[in-house]
Amino acid sequence: MPILQTLSDTLHGHKNTTDKTLVPASSPTEAKKPVFDHNDVTVIFVLGGPGAGKGTESAALVEEYDFVHLSAGDLLRAEQAREGSQHGKLIAEYIREGLVVPMEVTVKLLENAMRAALSDGHSETNPRPGWHNGKGRFLVDGFPRKMDQALKFDEEVCLSSFVLFFKCPEEVLLQRLLERGKTSGRADDNEESIKKRFKTFVETSMPVVDYYRTQGKVIEIDSTPPPAEVHKAVKTVMDATFAIAKAPLQG
Ligand code: UDP
Ligand code: MG
Repeated sequence: MPILQTLSDTLHGHKNTTDKTLVPASSPTEAKKPVFDHNDVTVIFVLGGPGAGKGTESAALVEEYDFVHLSAGDLLRAEQAREGSQHGKLIAEYIREGLVVPMEVTVKLLENAMRAALSDGHSETNPRPGWHNGKGRFLVDGFPRKMDQALKFDEEVCLSSFVLFFKCPEEVLLQRLLERGKTSGRADDNEESIKKRFKTFVETSMPVVDYYRTQGKVIEIDSTPPPAEVHKAVKTVMDATFAIAKAPLQG
């Protein structure tokens, strides 16, 4: 089946209701329903190596498609900085070491941020076609980075619709991150942390991409070119996908 048709089925929810391959065999699916119904709430995961352009491209898409952009890394950094947070120290250590913070923390932060955005939703003064009657659309950037997060989010928070995967060679990523490190103020934009992040990406995060690939949910985009060019490629895909899915998303 062509990928866009598959995505259309996914967004319409036709395929997912019957496709058991989307649900791991060992999961207690009967016991738990996700907090948000994927027929109303569209979640697109944005993945790629550190520095691949996830944040930049997500921000550009927000403008044109009325997404809310949630960066897992930004949510973690905000939680780390929040006065009175129980997790601040742990998050700081994991980020510096380029490791994936225990999933409960990140999944909860995402769930809370989604709930807040959905309750803002659509209003008379701020009419948003994709956001009325409990509907919403999210770009979740830099998540899931580990299989346990992917399974937990899909089962307990919201079944994801598809994955935008930005592919870029490591030497390009390294140059970008070192450049960004001059001004980002991020504790992990230094050569030592970057090497650790690459290792985590290859060993822990790529299996997540491969898992979604087996489900036909991955759209891969080369993010080596400059941002505007990558944006054009992403837009082509999004226009096709959201044109197909227009009716249920707005309905
Ligand atoms: N992180 C995590 N879990 C997540 C997302 C991020 O533990 O689901 C941590 C991890 O240590 C990662 C860091 O946050 O290396 C920075 O993530 P971010 O997405 O900001 O980095 P980027 O990939 O955009 O460079
Ligand atoms: Mg980022």
